[in-house]
Amino acid sequence: MCAIEAGKRGRRVAVLERANRAGKKILISGGGRCNFTNLHCRPENFHSSNPHFAKSALARYQPSDFIALVEKHGIPYHEKTLGQLFCDRSAEDILTLLEMECRDAGVQIFLNCKIHKVQHEEVFIAATDCGEFRAPALVVATGGLSIPKLGATSFGYDLARQFGLKISETRPALVPLMFGTQDRTRYCDLAGVSAEVAVSTDHTSFREKMLVTHRGLSGPAILQISTYWQKSSPIRIDLAPGRDATLGIREAKVRNMAVTQTALQEFLPKRFAARWLELHTPSAWSNRSLEEWERQIHEWVIEPAGTEGYEKAEVTAGGVDTDELSSKTMECRRVPGLFFIGEVVDVTGQLGGFNFQWAWASGVAAGRAL
Ligand SMILES: Cc1cc2nc3c(=O)[nH]c(=O)nc-3n(C[C@H](O)[C@H](O)[C@H](O)COP(=O)(O)OP(=O)(O)OC[C@H]3O[C@@H](n4cnc5c(N)ncnc54)[C@H](O)[C@@H]3O)c2cc1C
Repeated sequence: MCAIEAGKRGRRVAVLERANRAGKKILISGGGRCNFTNLHCRPENFHSSNPHFAKSALARYQPSDFIALVEKHGIPYHEKTLGQLFCDRSAEDILTLLEMECRDAGVQIFLNCKIHKVQHEEVFIAATDCGEFRAPALVVATGGLSIPKLGATSFGYDLARQFGLKISETRPALVPLMFGTQDRTRYCDLAGVSAEVAVSTDHTSFREKMLVTHRGLSGPAILQISTYWQKSSPIRIDLAPGRDATLGIREAKVRNMAVTQTALQEFLPKRFAARWLELHTPSAWSNRSLEEWERQIHEWVIEPAGTEGYEKAEVTAGGVDTDELSSKTMECRRVPGLFFIGEVVDVTGQLGGFNFQWAWASGVAAGRAL
């Protein structure tokens, strides 16, 4: 997006890409259909040490701008849920769109061209697999650390450090969480079971699906909260959001385990309901005990042992400190001509097309300033 924008403004642009195709992550995104933006994109959908930083770029390149590009290329798409837009056919459509726009803007893409080293004299000098490139401006769009088997490295962060820029500590985000040993023994044989829950940390909450895995918890609700989860702190899961979970039991002629199991199955899958009851049997059938039992259902407290790491993380939280960059142009305040865009910057979108919207918007912001 940065190259396209700069190319359209008459700049001579070289995209240096170490892989055999630029933008390959797009192909595996959104389960192969690329959730390319979100209709309800707002600054609140992004996590950063400075929550205001992303506002400017997001305001100047909106979801409607990218949708216009998608429509210009005749790409069929649909809204899946919660404003998330996906390709009808495949993510290949989005990558082809970007390649065509690059071509039309006169951008040259150099593939299999890994950058090894960057020096800064009067110009930036990049030593690469395909020779030396010199330019008055260098835009770093190297992405984060997630999915190392796709070639993710710390190159962008190393480069930032080389220029003396601060980095907000990086960590895996939009990532499954792992149970501690005890919860693993209790729940992991239920792998595959899912339920709609509300999951919270102290300041943030998401109501979406949760999935039990062989090692812990995943599903959209968990991926979302993982970005906000701090190591060694608990998360709270409401297994029956907005429901009076004991109503059926209180109104039953007799209160017993069978009635309770039926009540749980109103909102939990059968296997999970049975396990929950086994581990949280009401201490008595009095209204008071049921009240306490209801409280537990609305506040299942878990202390995750950790995340599944960068191998499974959709994105990297943290990154180049936003204090170092102009929010309007993404240029380094201390190093004129050096820009950072996309995931390498300390701006992390929630699940649902926000990370691409940030990649597009920050790219355009830089492209307009080159
Ligand atoms: C499985 C998965 C699914 C996802 N699905 C979605 C989704 O549906 N919607 C959404 O909004 N987000 C999604 N994301 C997140 C999204 O893909 C990223 O946030 C986005 O791709 C970041 O764009 P970027 O340009 O900053 O970095 P990247 O897309 O990671 O691109 C960085 C590029 O830099 C290249 N590079 C790195 N180092 C060098 C070097 N030294 N020399 C030359 N080239 C180098 C890499 O090869 C790569 O092509 C998903 C992520 C994953 C892992």
